[in-house]
Amino acid sequence: MTENKAQRGRRRLLEWQANSSANFYSEDQNLREVLHLRLGSERLGHRQADFDLFGESAATIVDEATKEMQRVAAYPTLRRYDGIGQRIEQVEFHPNYHGIGQTLYATGVLSDYDHIGQEAAQLVFAYLFTQNGEAGHACPLACAAGLIKILQAVGSEELKSQFLPRLLDPNYGSNFQASQFLTEVQGGSDVGANAVEARPNEDGSYSISGEKWFCSVANADVFLMTARPTDAPEGTRGLGAFLVPRLTEEGEPNGFAIRRLKDKLGTRFMASAEIDFDGAKAWPIGPVDQGFKNVVEIVLTTSRLYNAVSCAGIMRRAMTEAFGFAKAREAFGQSISRFPLVKRSLARLKVESAAALSSTMALVAYSEKSQSETLTETETQFFRAAVPMNKMLTALRGTQMVHEAMEVFGGNGAIESFSVLPRLYRDSYILEAWEGTHNVLTAQFLKDCAKYQVHKGLLQWCEDVIKAPDSLPQKDCAGHLESALENQIKPAFQELEQSAKSPMATLIARDLLEKTMVFIQAVTLLQEARHCEEASELSATEKTELLAFFCQDHGFAPAFDGERMARSLAILTET
Ligand SMILES: Cc1cc2nc3c(=O)[nH]c(=O)nc-3n(C[C@H](O)[C@H](O)[C@H](O)COP(=O)(O)OP(=O)(O)OC[C@H]3O[C@@H](n4cnc5c(N)ncnc54)[C@H](O)[C@@H]3O)c2cc1C
Repeated sequence: MTENKAQRGRRRLLEWQANSSANFYSEDQNLREVLHLRLGSERLGHRQADFDLFGESAATIVDEATKEMQRVAAYPTLRRYDGIGQRIEQVEFHPNYHGIGQTLYATGVLSDYDHIGQEAAQLVFAYLFTQNGEAGHACPLACAAGLIKILQAVGSEELKSQFLPRLLDPNYGSNFQASQFLTEVQGGSDVGANAVEARPNEDGSYSISGEKWFCSVANADVFLMTARPTDAPEGTRGLGAFLVPRLTEEGEPNGFAIRRLKDKLGTRFMASAEIDFDGAKAWPIGPVDQGFKNVVEIVLTTSRLYNAVSCAGIMRRAMTEAFGFAKAREAFGQSISRFPLVKRSLARLKVESAAALSSTMALVAYSEKSQSETLTETETQFFRAAVPMNKMLTALRGTQMVHEAMEVFGGNGAIESFSVLPRLYRDSYILEAWEGTHNVLTAQFLKDCAKYQVHKGLLQWCEDVIKAPDSLPQKDCAGHLESALENQIKPAFQELEQSAKSPMATLIARDLLEKTMVFIQAVTLLQEARHCEEASELSATEKTELLAFFCQDHGFAPAFDGERMARSLAILTET
């Protein structure tokens, strides 16, 4: 029997569904190339089986469990009292939420912080996981990682021995979840306006009182909080970092009451609350007068890397969804993947998702390295400047790329039950707001350029990489990048220096920040393309093309003519 048009259309959709990813790791050649460079072949070899196993779980069990939660709108609920009227301040979740947590934590994603030098591998698990969006657990991972690292770096021996074993416990059922509460109702960007007070007690603890306005992971077992000790100075200088256990020794809520859970646009499976504190017992993490500095340098830096990895994961999923759908969907008698405009969308999705992973893993490698050795001056400046810049660019691109993928889906892109994209879109916006809005990161960038001259290290780092001896296929791109550095980026920084004191300087800084970060991505892609060329077991063909497309698309190389564009789109979208 011949198919009618509707039957054919539906059959193609069924084929698209049947071909959905079965393993986020094994199907990701680009990821393996990045890891071959950043982890080295030996280390990658040791972790490959773990990544493969979790890549399969993430694409199957976790994906299904998350979709099911979405289908029944299984968002967390607040249960303030138990059956006999005692205050418990608990958050309740759908059973799938806990099932996902068990799968994720068993990978060692957090417990591997027990020994240094594992962070790049840990963030691979986060990357694979976040291809399902936030799924309720991406934010808790970032928060716990930050708390673990600040405790390891500056926490007292007592705090370490009391809390680290449970924070590092790979068993989800007994693990301690963590959160970080900085934002208050009067503002999140202006943390220096924090009014929550920490009164010192005689035993070295503090009693915390006041209101926190955005408290994600409201179910956490330990809260990391900023608060101002009595008589401490105004501004961020006067803020301490405190650890607040959820429960008292008697098992009761530790001086806090959850006002309500936020009804959010995205990250809806994770509970964000408004919380009132009234004498919560707290312990300072490190010297109280260094609290905010440590939070920025350790906790926020960590969260910003997790944020960027999440964006890269989301972009990767948007890309694979768009490729699969475009291949199956037909219009005007052919697969839509044959239309040049769709091909360009697909190519952009591939290139931008690879660029996000590229810059982020380059930075994660420095974060890991800094735990065991001293970074050079250039590396230190590069890392300091690029982490917030990368957070901003990857978050912006995350939303843009999910949007691009939705466009490939046409009207079906807007339908909740049709694909993962609407949820990814909502989660992407939250990743833009978290851990520093774009404007605030711009202001920090401007300040760091003026105060620490971080741009000098950043430009030097780019120059050093570009000028490294080149293998033939990347020579053209390296040449274009060298001239873009001299003729576009460096003069723009001179302009910024000249106008640094002008009230309009942030306008210049924001555009320059974005452009420079895109440039850094081109440089990290160049590193990858060269590495693929050198490593006999890898092929550089696609990576070299990806780099060439990226450079011309962002104006660092002359735009492709029609013939060259057709060749590029064929390599990037038909292989
Ligand atoms: C779902 C969700 C969960 C969150 N979870 C947490 C959490 O667990 N813990 C926590 O501490 N916070 C959390 N936040 C808060 C988040 O970190 C803040 O929203 C963010 O820091 C911005 O603060 P704000 O919302 O008060 O915006 P505001 O600070 O009021 O900013 C409003 C606008 O003004 C701009 N602006 C502010 N200062 C400047 C400046 N100097 N120059 C130019 N523009 C400026 C901002 O960029 C923004 O566009 C969460 C937010 C969301 C959406």
